[in-house]
Amino acid sequence: MEIKVFVEGPIDANNYLVIDEKTRDAVLIDCSSSRQEFIDSVKSANVNLKYILLTHGHFDHILGVDKFNEVFGVETYVSADDMSQIELTPKFMEMFMGIEPVEIKSIKNFVNEGDVFKIGDIEIKAISTPGHTKGGTCYIVGDKLFSGDTLFKGSVGRCDLPEGNFNDIVKSVKEKLFTLPDDTEVFTGHGAKTTIGFEKKYNEILNV
Ligand SMILES: [Zn+2]
Repeated sequence: MEIKVFVEGPIDANNYLVIDEKTRDAVLIDCSSSRQEFIDSVKSANVNLKYILLTHGHFDHILGVDKFNEVFGVETYVSADDMSQIELTPKFMEMFMGIEPVEIKSIKNFVNEGDVFKIGDIEIKAISTPGHTKGGTCYIVGDKLFSGDTLFKGSVGRCDLPEGNFNDIVKSVKEKLFTLPDDTEVFTGHGAKTTIGFEKKYNEILNV
C-alpha cells in the first residue's frame, strides 16, 4: 500500500490518496479543494480512483468533491447524518472564511458503520465516530487509521459547531479508536500524524 498526502483547501486539510500498488486502484480520503494542481497530482499518481470517502461533511474537507466527480467519474461517500453539514457549506464558507460560497451537489452515496470498500486486496473499513459532527467517520486500513477531525495529535476536533457534542467525541475515541492496537498509525484530518499508543498516553483532552 502506498499513501500520498495532499494538504489542500482553506483550512489546510489533509487529503490521503491510498493506493493498492498491484492494481493501482485507489481511494481518496477527503477532498478539500478543486485546485488544478491537486487534480494534476492525483492524475500523475497514475491510479484508478474508485471512491472518495469523506470523514465528515464540513466544508473544509469536501470542497473538491464536485470537480473530482466530474474529472474522475468517481463515487463519493459520506454519512447520511452529515448531509446537514454539507448543506451548510455556503454558510460556513461565508461565516468562517469570507470566501465565495459554493454548493456541493454531487454526493449521493452514504457510508455506514462497518462498511468495507475494496481496492485490489486492500480493505478499507468505516467506523462511525460521532462527536465533531454527528456523522463523523474514521476509516481503518490494516494497521492505519484515517481519523478526520475526530482525533488529532494531542487533541480532538472542536465540538462547538452545529451538531458537535463533546461527550460523544470522547466516547467515540475511548470506546472505538482506543480499542485499536497501540502501534496503529493515525493519519489525521489536519496537522501531524500520531499513533493510538501516543494518544492514550499524552492526549490532554482525553486524559482529564
Ligand atoms: Zn471538521
